[in-house]
Amino acid sequence: MTGNKSSTKKELIAKDNFSEWYDNVLLEAKIVDDRYPVKGFSVYTGWGMSIAKRIIGMLEEKLEENGNEPMQFPVVIPEDSFQKEEDHIEGFSGEVFWITHAGNNELERRLILRPTSETAIYPMFKLWMRSHQDLPLRMHQTCNVYRYETKATRPLYRGREFLWNEGHTAHVDYDDAEAEVRAAIEAYRSVYDRLGLSYIMMKRPEFDKFAGADYSVAFDTWNPDGKVNQIGTVHQLGHNFAKAFDLTYEDADGEQATATNTCYGMGFGRTLAATIAHHGDDHGLVLPPIVAPIQVVIIPIFFKGKEEIALNYSKKLFDEIKAAGIRVKLDDDNRFNPGDKYFTWEMYGTPIRIEVGPREAQNNKVTLVRRDTFEKTQIDESELIPTIQGLFESIFENLRAKDKKTLDNLIADAYDLDQLKTYMDSRMIVRINWCGDPDCAFNLKDMVSGEIRGTRWDVEEKPTGNCIMCKEEAKYVAYVSRTY
Ligand SMILES: [Zn+2]
Repeated sequence: MTGNKSSTKKELIAKDNFSEWYDNVLLEAKIVDDRYPVKGFSVYTGWGMSIAKRIIGMLEEKLEENGNEPMQFPVVIPEDSFQKEEDHIEGFSGEVFWITHAGNNELERRLILRPTSETAIYPMFKLWMRSHQDLPLRMHQTCNVYRYETKATRPLYRGREFLWNEGHTAHVDYDDAEAEVRAAIEAYRSVYDRLGLSYIMMKRPEFDKFAGADYSVAFDTWNPDGKVNQIGTVHQLGHNFAKAFDLTYEDADGEQATATNTCYGMGFGRTLAATIAHHGDDHGLVLPPIVAPIQVVIIPIFFKGKEEIALNYSKKLFDEIKAAGIRVKLDDDNRFNPGDKYFTWEMYGTPIRIEVGPREAQNNKVTLVRRDTFEKTQIDESELIPTIQGLFESIFENLRAKDKKTLDNLIADAYDLDQLKTYMDSRMIVRINWCGDPDCAFNLKDMVSGEIRGTRWDVEEKPTGNCIMCKEEAKYVAYVSRTY
């Protein structure tokens, strides 16, 4: 059962008040319930999980099209595997959950809950790669990972358990791994693009790359609270893990060679959070049709004595829409009045609402209301399916265009610290000239409420002045923002 009788009496929360709006939408649209009695762990509820599953499906399909095999590795990693790659331990050891006991007995070999799965996967990769003919190895899995976050947790943005998809690969050489990095980036882009999300692709600075990587590319997207939300990352690992895990194979000349690895991860919580936060409005969610669990809701409007006419016509429309492969629901629950239902389905972000009164039924007309603009259209029944399909396209284009415009308007250039501070206070994403020295980056972080996130991966940008901190010659155009 959805909604309740008093729903129209509930007050809507303006999205300008983002934090309160977000918490309200998570609960009212049944996305996530944060009241689970362990801090940093939350429950994906019906509507939220239904959307997440569609995003997961989009990515998995794309990765498997690329040749990644689906796998499912154990959640536990033995201590000795986890500790093989030094940078990796240093990066993660502060946040791992340990399993030290089984029943009343202390374990001889302690286990960790995976914070990410490189160290679970590589001992198996080692068994699977004997010859160059066994390569590349390419897998992916959708699973939960566990990190004891010490920063404030926030549902979907930062939790101690998070749902993601991780890809792991091994290649004969660096070039082949480079091609994999590009393929993974394209796979991620295709998902974000179809969600209408705007993003910038950052090559992370050395001090902020994945623990054990050669370099890391991240997808950063804007958030209404002014923080940047990292929704996916792709890493070229070079030989770092291959050396630690002895990932060698016999090459075509019969010589032993070392493999090259890549890995990548898409956080579904954060991607879902971005979809909610970017497209939502004062009435709740606004979903891109591709991920809406229900794309069209039909609401019969009952007039005394004419209930049957509206209901029968609604059923006819339902059958027609369903037969066209569109996810449709007939909301004929007569315990709620139409106003309550509008409120509920608007909160759920259902892209199209069809209102059916006796007049529509008698004249073979259909009244459609699109969720993004609330624009109402009346058409002949014969035009129903093409009209719905056209509206889906138009809703998606509208969401995508608005999203891109928001991001474009958030990016500003600063040439001195005062300017940078002013823009950071207005919660912008700020471009600066940077010499590349980590000290300048650390000093900057101490002086403003943001940090250097990296340099553009997808666009080549040339510095237009000296380093904003040390005034020496700049090598990079870097992006500064607040972050989760
Ligand atoms: Zn500098």
